[in-house]
Amino acid sequence: MTADNAPAGSANGPTGPDTWALTGVTALLGEELTPTRQATIVITDGRITAAGHLHDPGPAVPRLHRPDLLVTPGFLNGHTHIGDAAFAEAGFRTEGVDLLYAPDGQRWQLMARATDEQLVTGMRQAMQTMIRCGVVAFEDFREQGRHGVDLLRQAARGLPIRALALGRHADLPFTTEQLQANTGGLSEEAQAEIRDILDIADGFSVVSPNQLTDTALAQTADLVRAAGKRLAAHVSERDADRQTSLARTGRSDIARAIEILRPDYLVHATAATPEELRAAARAGMAIVMCPRSHAGLGFGVPPYLGAVAAGVNVALGTDNVMTTTPSPHEEANFLVKAERWRTGTVRHPGPGRLLAAMTVNAAQALGATDLGSLSVGRAATFVAFDTASPNLAASVANDPAAALVNRATAGDIAAVVFGGRTVVGTLDRPTLPATRPGPAPAQPYGPS
Ligand SMILES: [Zn+2]
Repeated sequence: MTADNAPAGSANGPTGPDTWALTGVTALLGEELTPTRQATIVITDGRITAAGHLHDPGPAVPRLHRPDLLVTPGFLNGHTHIGDAAFAEAGFRTEGVDLLYAPDGQRWQLMARATDEQLVTGMRQAMQTMIRCGVVAFEDFREQGRHGVDLLRQAARGLPIRALALGRHADLPFTTEQLQANTGGLSEEAQAEIRDILDIADGFSVVSPNQLTDTALAQTADLVRAAGKRLAAHVSERDADRQTSLARTGRSDIARAIEILRPDYLVHATAATPEELRAAARAGMAIVMCPRSHAGLGFGVPPYLGAVAAGVNVALGTDNVMTTTPSPHEEANFLVKAERWRTGTVRHPGPGRLLAAMTVNAAQALGATDLGSLSVGRAATFVAFDTASPNLAASVANDPAAALVNRATAGDIAAVVFGGRTVVGTLDRPTLPATRPGPAPAQPYGPS
């Protein structure tokens, strides 16, 4: 892709008092994230109304000319648990299974002891961190039933970020013995709890297919779909999950998710086989992968390249805030190294695909169709990197796409714009273009 042959933008948008243009920037435009130099982005009432190379917004539109900025769509964090942000590093020395797994994991004990105020403060700090990292939306698997979703809503109040909350049961609905028998469905109370959570949540999350019977997986899907809400599930975090599921049901946990639960997307798939990844692709199911979290827990690095090769739409998430910083940008930076280590070559993964995994692909996985790309009709929600920063200057000059996934940090962000409004950093006020002086008036002929 070259910068200067990108398609021109659409026709002018309306030019009322709330229209302004960012001009002269380098921007990753459209669904293909096409690097475009001397780009113009026109914004009207918080939406993009035109975007393209050297697009002229017209004389009536105030503009801000910033050739020093590299503009990407705002990042989406495809998977988080911000409810444990108050316990960051408290479990740094705890084995992953002992840390995270309900009901006895250290995380669950800490959460049970914490006050609502502590949890809300931690969640709010996690969201403030995400905003500074250029995150404009995230989807959280919120614990603690309906109350947990309510706490997240409180924590998000007034912050310029879209907080999508998928609730879950406050307590596990089945005993181990019931799960081993794989018979029986959700109790009336457990079904009522799902309906109650869906009243205020954006959807429902299944912690693992191994925590529900096959009948309960189908019931859960029916309840969520009847409410018109979104559904997602953790799958295949470790090979032990597959073995547990096979022993109880004759199918792997990821196969049961794909065939019975049919969620909008899967999370992790770190231990998925190539055939399971192909099955996810055939089912049109996106996978949100969390490479740093799973590497940090000692579970392994999710098969990003294998999933892409299988035809899966892969997005990135950062998982538990207590283990990992909530920056998808750092996720991409880590994944470059991890996949190169795994494959023994520098040919993959391409920086463009990694940028897509935290923008356009993630927006598709989360159903946030107004986010994820700098395209006409989308929200004017983007990250502007300072190409003159000491960290980025040489890197951007050599390879702008690689600069973004291999070097850029939150410290290089000049501004984050959310719905047309600058929420991180500052951008000068757009001004009307100076009117060109007209031709000099003709001098009267005659003796002077
Ligand atoms: Zn998770």
